[in-house]
Order: sequence, then C-alpha cells, then structure tokens
Amino acid sequence: MSLRVHKYGGTSVADIQRIANVAGRVQKAHDGGDQVVVVLSAMAGVTDRLIALANQASKTPDKRELDVLLATGEQTTAALLAMMLKARGYKAKSFLGFQAGIHTDHMSGKARILDIDSKRLKKALDEGNIVVVAGFQGADNDGDITTLGRGGSDTSAVAIAAALKADVCEIYTDVDGVYTTDPRICADARKIDRISYEEMLEMAILGAKVLQIRSVEFAKKYNVPVHVRSSFNEEEGTMVINETADMESAVVSGVTCDMNEARITLKKVPDQPGISAKIFGALAKAEIMVDMIIQNTRSGGQTDLTFTVTKDDFERALEISEMVAEEVAAEEIKTATDIAKVSVIGLGMKSHSGVAAVMFEALASENINIRLISTSEIRISCVILAKYAELAVRTLHAAFGLEKPRE
Ligand code: ADP
Ligand code: ASP
Ligand code: MG
Repeated sequence: MSLRVHKYGGTSVADIQRIANVAGRVQKAHDGGDQVVVVLSAMAGVTDRLIALANQASKTPDKRELDVLLATGEQTTAALLAMMLKARGYKAKSFLGFQAGIHTDHMSGKARILDIDSKRLKKALDEGNIVVVAGFQGADNDGDITTLGRGGSDTSAVAIAAALKADVCEIYTDVDGVYTTDPRICADARKIDRISYEEMLEMAILGAKVLQIRSVEFAKKYNVPVHVRSSFNEEEGTMVINETADMESAVVSGVTCDMNEARITLKKVPDQPGISAKIFGALAKAEIMVDMIIQNTRSGGQTDLTFTVTKDDFERALEISEMVAEEVAAEEIKTATDIAKVSVIGLGMKSHSGVAAVMFEALASENINIRLISTSEIRISCVILAKYAELAVRTLHAAFGLEKPRE
C-alpha cells in the first residue's frame, strides 16, 4: 500500500462535473489499495473574484480579513469533494488548513509553512478515510488564518506529502506535464519526462507558473518526488526528482517568460560608497524583493542605478525610491512596466560556453532589443519590451532546438 498526495488546480475543479471527475480519479486510487490525501485549489476564477470583491469593500483591504476571505475558495471545493465521495459510499473527511495542522508565519497573503502537525490527517487515514485538504492556507501562532500566495495549493500539497512521508505528490493540472516552454505560447513545446529539482526551481522562479516556487523548494529539501500530470487523461506527466547523470546532457532545457516585473532607474546618482546600501536597504526594510540590479557608471562621478521588482511591489518601490532619490540627490527617476523577462535555463550551461551569444543573436534576428541582462550558473535572462515576449519565447525555443522531435 502506498500513500499518495493528489493536488488538483483550479481548472480541474472548475465546476461540479470536474469535481466529479476528480472524485472518480481519487476513488480509483483508493480502490487500488492506496491511501489518498487530496489537496484542492479553489474553482478557476474564484480567487480572482474574491480579490475583486475585497477591492470593492475597501480601497486597501485589511490583510488579515483578506486571508479569511480568500481561504473560502478552497473551503468550498474541499467540502464539495468530500460530500460527493461520501454520497458515493466512500469514507471521506475534509480539513481546512488549520485543521490539517498547517502552521505558518504571520505574513498575510504570502505566508510560509513553518511545520505541519499531521496527527489529525494520520488518524483520519488510519481510519480508512480519503482525506481532503483545502489548499493555499494555514494558520499562524495566534490561530489566525493565513494564505500562501498565488498558486499556493502546490506548496500545501508538497508540504503535506513531506510531512506524511508520502510515496509521491501528484500535481494534476490542465497541461500534460512540464514542457520546454509554456505550451500555450509555443505550439512546438515538448513535454519533459524528467526534470531535476534545481532546473524546475529556476523555471518556477523565472515565470513557469505550473508549480509555485515554494513547492519546488519543499520538494527539493525533503526529497519529495513530484509528478506533474493532466487531470483530463491518463498519460504519464513529468517527474520532478533529484538530478541524474543523463540529465546533464541538455545545455538548455527550457525557456520561460515572466510578465510580472517592472523597472525603476535612478539617474545620475552620486558615485559614492553607501548609496546602493541606502536604496536597497530601504527596499529590504519594506520587504520588497529586488530581482535584477544594474549600475552604469557615467562620467563626472555619477552613475545610473536600475533595478526590477514585481508589478505588485512596483508602486511601493517607486514611493521609496522617490524618497531615497531626494536624499541622495539623484537627478531623475524613470520607470517601465511594459517589460517582460525571457530566460533560458539548463544544467548543461555549467560546462558549456556560447549560450549567451546564441540567445542574443536569436533575439537580434527578430529585431528585439535587450534592455537588461542577468546570468547565473544555469540560466540567462533578458528584459525586453512586453509586446515581444511571445515572439521571443518562440524564437529562443527554436534557436536552442527544443521543438518536438519530428516524425
Ligand atoms: P493549476 O490551476 O492546475 O494550478 P496553473 O495555471 O497554476 O494550473 O499552471 C498550469 C499552467 O502553467 C499551464 O496551463 C501553462 O499555461 C502554464 N505554464 C507555464 N510554463 C509552463 C511550462 N514550462 N510547462 C507547463 N505549463 C506551463
Ligand atoms: N486559489 C489560489 C490561486 O488562485 C491558490 C491555488 O490555486 O493554488 O492562486
Ligand atoms: Mg497553479
């Protein structure tokens, strides 16, 4: 008997027929003799609708109450699935995050799971139940409800799989697995059979939303095998696992695109020690994550300082930058929100040179201007104008030969 965690995303539980499809899959696993924990997202579109309602109730919705509201999306689907399974004669029980023992920090809207007290889940499993858990939520030290950030049900599922030492965490979604790039942007995208935690983590960080970043961090830390697959067919999907020797052969294994960045440039900043510390210290204090940082030295003891943040943090980052700019006598601030970051990722880059040249040539061949560049051991990212993002993804995908093998 194995213990399996199934997670179904919003499209997979979008209406009662789809929840019935989920019930069928869960029953099949249970009938086959496995213990099953099912983690559910809210119905597709529900989280967005709840956010819109909150914005109508208040210009700046209180963060604690927003979490109470958003957690109801997952409460609905968990109760409906458990109800349906019981009506079909199965033993089942639904749990909200706090009932499942999911203990988080206090960061409303982007809480981190600190630990899971899995006593109740284990007991319910031992009693023969199919256990259904509302994804995307937990509770902090005060017992207040918290949510885990967009896409957070992936992290609920992997964290529960780690806590219960499950044999596998199956992420059921609306595509057949992890592809070489978003299959909705590039029709030639190819499904990857096996991908290392490290590469998957880079892909998630760089915009492939198929798995939430933190879910991959958890999987890597606790060695949870993750199987990303479709909830609409029986095909094998993608195994996210530890690196193996044969995985190293691909120089570039994926292309991603992130539309959620914005750029801020402080122009003509005095070129002195301590200026960057002041700017980025102020941003860090406001818990704003900065992605790329680029400094161009000008003549006359001045420099231009450019950085990117997520669009959600843009307004606050700009306010802080304006304050600091005045303090350090920067001449002006320029911003751009119509940008996209395209990246190529591959473990093989560690030992191959020339990837950057191929990337830049491919973008140049389509007349796409590169605004910012950053690199790490296993990826290269370029910021370009947002309107060229999809063209850039398709061009890079072809330039690195990632398309489907032709028959
Ligand atoms: P769910 O609601 O099941 O959590 P998401 O919408 O969060 O699903 O994630 C699945 C989506 O991720 C796909 O529909 C696809 O458009 C997108 N995606 C982006 N990059 C990739 C990729 N490299 N491989 C597969 N899907 C990707
Ligand atoms: N419902 C949440 C969202 O839309 C969490 C999730 O689906 O994973 O982001
Ligand atoms: Mg998701």
